[in-house]
Amino acid sequence: MEFMQFRPGESGYETELAGFDRIVSHRPAAVAAVRSVAEVRAAVRYAVQRGMPVAVQSTGHGPAAAVGGDSLLLSVRRLRGVHVDPAARTARIAAGTRWQEVVDAAAPHGLAPLCGSSPLVGVVGYTLGGGLGPLARTCGYAADQVTAVSLVTADGRLREVTAEREPELFWALRGGGKSGFGVVTALTFRLPPVARLYGGGLRFAGADAAAVLGAWRRVTRAAPEALTTSLALLRVPRDGGLAVHVRVAVAAEQGREPEQGLESLGEELVRPLREAAPAFADTVRIRPYRTVAEIHEDPVEPMPYHERGILLREFDAAAEAALLASAGPGAECADWAVELRHLGGAAGRAPAVPSAVGSRAAAFTLTTLTPPDADSGVRTALAPWSTGGRYVNFLAGPGTERLTAEAYDAETYARLRAVKRKYDPENVFRHGHALPPAATGAQRTAPASATARPHRRVS
Ligand SMILES: Cc1cc2nc3c(=O)[nH]c(=O)nc-3n(C[C@H](O)[C@H](O)[C@H](O)COP(=O)(O)OP(=O)(O)OC[C@H]3O[C@@H](n4cnc5c(N)ncnc54)[C@H](O)[C@@H]3O)c2cc1C
Repeated sequence: MEFMQFRPGESGYETELAGFDRIVSHRPAAVAAVRSVAEVRAAVRYAVQRGMPVAVQSTGHGPAAAVGGDSLLLSVRRLRGVHVDPAARTARIAAGTRWQEVVDAAAPHGLAPLCGSSPLVGVVGYTLGGGLGPLARTCGYAADQVTAVSLVTADGRLREVTAEREPELFWALRGGGKSGFGVVTALTFRLPPVARLYGGGLRFAGADAAAVLGAWRRVTRAAPEALTTSLALLRVPRDGGLAVHVRVAVAAEQGREPEQGLESLGEELVRPLREAAPAFADTVRIRPYRTVAEIHEDPVEPMPYHERGILLREFDAAAEAALLASAGPGAECADWAVELRHLGGAAGRAPAVPSAVGSRAAAFTLTTLTPPDADSGVRTALAPWSTGGRYVNFLAGPGTERLTAEAYDAETYARLRAVKRKYDPENVFRHGHALPPAATGAQRTAPASATARPHRRVS
């Protein structure tokens, strides 16, 4: 055997499968615990020769349906490593690398990888889905910073995918990369020059939700691209009931600090939030980018939950009222978290080399994190403001794989399926949020969702 393999009942099988979101229990026929690119290639060839579908797991932060049957699950968590090139302002990372490792390696050079809210999320899974983080409005999606992808495809080949060498696959991997094109073994991406920011979180009592939400909505209406902000209605034990968590990051655009100074601009932008109600915790201040994880303070202990989201065209006063009625004080809301993230700015613009990111036209994401045995009514309440689209990274748990088509418009979806047909015609990589290959001869196949909207009840 050219790679470590664990089968059900063998020591190592369960440990290898355990991920962050415990909503699913994967039961593949075997787990391949790969330690090198050569082992990735060997494992893919092994599976293909035996007709086994292949799944990929890194940290287990974003599962869809459970992987079972005769599948081989490739665990890439041992493929670690970060190389920062300060002169080129790029980082090259191996498949199992988590964001905090890149943040730490880039910080001494005053550079900022476009990580998400949690430092424990895997760089590759996050970036393949787009990658929307605390600097989204200032610097855009992480996928748009990618310059090269090393990918092992179903034929066992290692491909160096760049805009010049394989333009269509390069387009698809950045934002549509979870469609099942192969196993990414490494990524290279640009690092914006952000050494520090004015940011952190403000926590308010649930009773002040209406005042805080109203102030936040007005702040987002006038926000410059220097400000990225999100708001979550949290029902977690730490806050003892409903709490409102507002996250802000004010960063210098293109690395150029505003004339009035970063702190002064940040204070001005955050003032209406501080004046809306007394915050019981306020960590917003000038901070090194190295501490970016303190903005969201995401949970670090594994837990089981469904994650589902829709995209909003706008968030007006009526939407605010609908959100308060469905998730505010007194509402019967089972969700641990209901989160709004403000989009637009750099996240709304296509990069110079276009990518498959599907959520650029939206103004906000609305995401719910719900316990395993409960259901959320919040997305249905906000359905009148939905674009009809989704953001693929904010879909986790069984059933979300069927919503993936809604993460792309009909043209992008058809184009992704055509790329899938070229590189994985036998649908070897069919797990997670993979798309089916286009049928031979198919020109444009619209996602089922394109004709099925609007829904009475929103998944
Ligand atoms: C606490 C938390 C915070 C988050 N914050 C954000 C955020 O701020 N912004 C955002 O955009 N997303 C966020 N996410 C979502 C996250 O980006 C996605 O779930 C992402 O897919 C996780 O990737 P992973 O490798 O860590 O997880 P995994 O569950 O291991 O992988 C998820 C999927 O990614 C693909 N994948 C992973 N590695 C490879 C590889 N080497 N080759 C091919 N495919 C691969 C596979 O399709 C796999 O099924 C968050 C998730 C959690 C749980």
